[in-house]
Amino acid sequence: MTWAELAEKQATVVQMLKNSILKERLAHAYLFEGKQGTKTDLMAFQLAKAFLCQKRGDDAEPCHTCEHCRRIDSGNHPDLHLIQAEGASIKVDQIRHLLKEFSYQGLESTRKVYIVEEADTMTNSAANSLLKFLEEPGGESLAILQTTKRHAILPTIQSRVQVLSFAPLPPESVIETLLEKGYSEVQARIASQIAADVEEAESLCSSDWIAQARSKVIQLVHEISKRPQRALLTVHEHWLPFFSERSSLQLGMDMLMLWYRDLLRVQIGQENQVVYTDCMDDLKNQALSQSQPTIRHKLTAIFDAKRRLDANSSPQLVMDQLLLKLQEG
Ligand SMILES: [Zn+2]
Repeated sequence: MTWAELAEKQATVVQMLKNSILKERLAHAYLFEGKQGTKTDLMAFQLAKAFLCQKRGDDAEPCHTCEHCRRIDSGNHPDLHLIQAEGASIKVDQIRHLLKEFSYQGLESTRKVYIVEEADTMTNSAANSLLKFLEEPGGESLAILQTTKRHAILPTIQSRVQVLSFAPLPPESVIETLLEKGYSEVQARIASQIAADVEEAESLCSSDWIAQARSKVIQLVHEISKRPQRALLTVHEHWLPFFSERSSLQLGMDMLMLWYRDLLRVQIGQENQVVYTDCMDDLKNQALSQSQPTIRHKLTAIFDAKRRLDANSSPQLVMDQLLLKLQEG
C-alpha cells in the first residue's frame, strides 16, 4: 500500500498525514474514525511504516524495502504493537502490558508505535489506563486508535488525540456497481446509503433483505401518518420480528432516517436526490403536513434511538419510545 493508492479514496487524510510527516509535526496520538471499508486499518499501517522507516522518501513515502518496512509487512516489527479485542473487548491487562513494553527502550530505534484496533471495544478500565498514557507519552511514540464508532470513544480520550475522519465511500459508485449487477434502482439507492461498503450493499440486495426491509419502513411511516393507532401494533408484530438482530435494527433505523431525509428533500425541491423514488406521492403528501423543524426533530429522535441501541438498551423499549416521538407534530 502506498500513499498514492490510499489517496484514491481518502485524499484529505493522506494529504494531512503526509504534510505532518514532512514538516515533522505528527501528533503523538491519532484517532482514525470511519465506516467499515474506509481503510482506516491500512492507513494506520502506512503511517506506522512512514514513522519507523529509516529510508523514507522526500514525498513521505516509506521505502517498503528496508528492514523496518519488511518487518512491518511480515507483522513482526518489535517496535510496532497491535492491540486487538480479545473476545468482545480490549481488556485493561492488554493496555498494562503495552505500557510495560513502552517503558523499555526501543530495540532498533527510539521510536515506537502502537495501533489500537476497534478502540471503542476498550473496557472502561482499559480506556482509563490508556488515557494516562496519552497524557504523558514517553519518548518518540506514536499512537493510532481506530474505530467505526466514534461516539463510543470516551470524550476524555477524544480530547487527547487528533481525530481524523475518513470519507465514506461515495454512494454513486456503490449504486453504479449494483446496477451493473442487475439490481433495481430503488434497491441500489437504499443499499448504497445504509451499507458500509460495496460488498455489504450487494449482500443486502442479493438476499432480498433490502426489498423486505423497504416494505417494512414504508408500512410503518404510512401508518404513523395515516393510522397512528395501528403503528404500535405494527412495530410489535412486523417491525421487531423482522429486524430481530440489533445490527439489522440499526439498518432499519437508517432506512427510517432516509425516509425523513427524503421528506426534507421534497420540501426544499431536491426531488432528484430522493432515495424512495417509487414513493413520491406518499412523500409529497407527508411533506405537506409537516414542518421542517418537525422533521428535523424526528431525525434527531431516530439518531438518539440508534445511539441508545448501541448502548445496549432494549430494542423494544427503544422502538416504543421512538414511535412516540415520530407520532408527535
Ligand atoms: Zn523503509
